[in-house]
Amino acid sequence: MKKSKFNIIVNAKDDKKLIFNSYSGALALIDEKSYEQYLNNNFYDDKLKEDLIHGKYLIEDDLDEIQYFKALHNLSRYGRHSISLTIAPTLNCNMNCYYCFEEKKDISMDEEIISNLLDYIKGLIDELNLKLLNVTWYGGEPLLEIDKISMLNDKIYELCASKEVEYRQAIVTNGVLLTKENVHKLNKHKNLEYCQVTLDGNKYTHDKSRRLKDQGVGSFDTIIKNVDLVAEDIEIHLRVNIQKNNINDAYELLDYFEKNNLKNRVSIYFAPIRPDTEACSHVENLCLSQVDFAAFNSEILTIAWEKGYDFPLYSYPSQSIISCGAITPNAYVIDPKGDLFKCWNEIGLEQYMVGNIKTGAQLNSENAKWLSHEIPDECYECESLPICSGGCPYYRIRNIDNQCDYRKYMKDAIFNIFYAKHKEKKEAEVSA
Ligand code: SF4
Ligand code: SF4
Repeated sequence: MKKSKFNIIVNAKDDKKLIFNSYSGALALIDEKSYEQYLNNNFYDDKLKEDLIHGKYLIEDDLDEIQYFKALHNLSRYGRHSISLTIAPTLNCNMNCYYCFEEKKDISMDEEIISNLLDYIKGLIDELNLKLLNVTWYGGEPLLEIDKISMLNDKIYELCASKEVEYRQAIVTNGVLLTKENVHKLNKHKNLEYCQVTLDGNKYTHDKSRRLKDQGVGSFDTIIKNVDLVAEDIEIHLRVNIQKNNINDAYELLDYFEKNNLKNRVSIYFAPIRPDTEACSHVENLCLSQVDFAAFNSEILTIAWEKGYDFPLYSYPSQSIISCGAITPNAYVIDPKGDLFKCWNEIGLEQYMVGNIKTGAQLNSENAKWLSHEIPDECYECESLPICSGGCPYYRIRNIDNQCDYRKYMKDAIFNIFYAKHKEKKEAEVSA
């Protein structure tokens, strides 16, 4: 047996090591003597060897893990029984955030587009013999068009039910219109997986950047009130945007959420803002590097854990054989005119169109860039490959930034916190 290329080892307490395998997702604590046996690949403890084989830390000598990974990647990338559509019923928004990456366009789907969209979805279901349809409502602010979403939702649900296709939805919203009534409409068919809502910091910081267009007032209180009211009805992913000048807000927010009974009723996580497109390139000097964000996130995760927060969303690395659906032929972003795009960042920008709901996706030069995108050679040397798969392809395709994702730089904190949490849970179960 040989060591897997995907073993990641970090220091733990008392001279022990935590060993994680990025393909299997296994995490184990090993003492010095066990580590020495592992390092020398010479085992006198049979049980240890057996456990390491079970966690895929040790693999057969003739297994070529890279070849195996490539095969899984291709199967996942070109399997055609599921499709993910990101649908923007409008590009209009009730806010005007200074960093928003979309070029503002005041357009919404009309009846003809809605009818064409349903025909397009019906065509996909038949052509691909579809088993699963994922829809993410996106914008602009999608809830400005809740009635259109609600109507589309009913029709898509009927189409899927008649062909025995599983239908799942999610929504990315600024939260201002996330009322009980709207959540009820969205989740009429009990298939709404989550709502993603974003804060820009504490009330003071958030309200400076996220003002309601028509009233000119901040939106923090409205969002928090809505999230609190719907938290029992739907899974909320509360994303807190982090940039250089609001880092301290994050620490304050942990206390705020606790005081306001949101701790562990919603999944809170922190995410860096990035100068992704021309429309938001002016925020570049506010963005943290991936390494700096990793240092911040490691610290705040530790504090959150000490305060009794559940392990935050997207923190524990899970297998991700393809980095983004955009590189598959099964994922499209649809704007209110019915034009098709590959990436959320490029919605509504005609130069990046890859087709239309009437014509379907075309193999034009834009689509070819995404469908021919390859994981860079250096990633095949990386122990994180099965959980990263080369990272977001947008940055490479548009030659923006080749930094590795911040998660690569916070393994020590992630594995130590996760292991401690896991141990705490097990001990609580035993003593219960
Ligand atoms: S390519 Fe990157 S930015 Fe675009 S949708 Fe995928 S993950 Fe998001
Ligand atoms: S992008 Fe970076 S972290 Fe991801 S697989 Fe490539 S080298 Fe590894």
